[in-house]
Amino acid sequence: MLTIFTYFEITLLNIDSKFRYLQRFMNNKVHNFSAGPSILPDKVFEQASSAINNFNGKGLSILEISHRSKDFMDVLDEARSLAIEISELDTNKYTCLFLQGGASMQFLMTAYNFLNKNAAYINTGSWSTKAIKEAKLFGNVTEIASSFDKNFNYIPKDFSINEDYDYLHITSNNTIFGTQFHSFPVSNCPLIVDMSSDIFSRKIDFSKFDLIYAGAQKNLGPAGATMVIINKELLDKVQRNVPSMMSYKVHIEKDSSFNTPPVFPIYCILLNLRLIKQEGIDSISEKNKIKSEFIYGEIDRNKCFSGFSEVSDRSQMNATFNINEGFDSELFNKICSNNNISGINGHRSVGGYRASIYNALPLESLNVLVDSMKEFELSQE
Ligand code: PMP
Repeated sequence: MLTIFTYFEITLLNIDSKFRYLQRFMNNKVHNFSAGPSILPDKVFEQASSAINNFNGKGLSILEISHRSKDFMDVLDEARSLAIEISELDTNKYTCLFLQGGASMQFLMTAYNFLNKNAAYINTGSWSTKAIKEAKLFGNVTEIASSFDKNFNYIPKDFSINEDYDYLHITSNNTIFGTQFHSFPVSNCPLIVDMSSDIFSRKIDFSKFDLIYAGAQKNLGPAGATMVIINKELLDKVQRNVPSMMSYKVHIEKDSSFNTPPVFPIYCILLNLRLIKQEGIDSISEKNKIKSEFIYGEIDRNKCFSGFSEVSDRSQMNATFNINEGFDSELFNKICSNNNISGINGHRSVGGYRASIYNALPLESLNVLVDSMKEFELSQE
């Protein structure tokens, strides 16, 4: 009796989750422009939901299996090797970790491990500013360039890099301000990059970097895991006694399992990395270029809006824009909400709007936003 009841309950649960899944993608499709946590491919949601009920057909949920089980070790191994493969890096030189504590933990971990005397930082926004603040706890920080003078609406280009720096740290894409490095500084000191909001969104030469970190919750997976790709030679530079949880060396030696790793986020990242590999970075790059040109084209054309960041430094991931004076933002907000547009409010330090157009955002959603901007312009005549 109990078995029949449980079976019935599970069937209902499955139907309910399938129904919610269909509802998400059919009727009231919400166009999700959130900056992070943000949209992920439908397939990731579908496969992850199924693994919550039954992972690998083993009758256990991905949420309840041991992180030491063979099934999970396979997930971890595949995710790590896919990350290196997609980055086209030498597997003998680089390794990949999945850590906790978000990208914010990397602000201090990078400095704890590698800042011995003096490190250089390029300050391009709130996240760089936070990274600088943490680094100052460990040594001298030289801010070799900053765009603070114009509320971070551009990427500084005028700076020189002393090769004696322990490392140079940059933020490749500034999620809040909507600017992005379109070419990277060339230096003889190690280059560390916070790539949280544009990892695997465009074709770049990853071998320019010695350490790449990215909080998962934009182009990789759900919040809770941070991907770190590290050139193992960098470990020779560690001079401090670093506590185990903060030590890259310890995490590498323990294969990302020094403590319990974030099993579910890593599994979702794996599902996404498989899709990224399948599609290929070239195709993803091309789509992101088309998407960003489309939204910026409308921002520039539409008399009601102005872009926030300098044209040459615009981000392909986060398009920031404002309503021009004299136009009714309440009405635009209403049009967006009527059209099921979610998450386009700008960050409080910039105001206005921010459309985050990560890899998984379909052109269809962007069409809805652009049409809403046009609808708003017409209403203002
Ligand atoms: N760096 C960048 C570029 C970000 O956009 C963010 C926000 N997700 C962070 C760092 C901080 O990430 P987390 O919340 O994972 O610590």
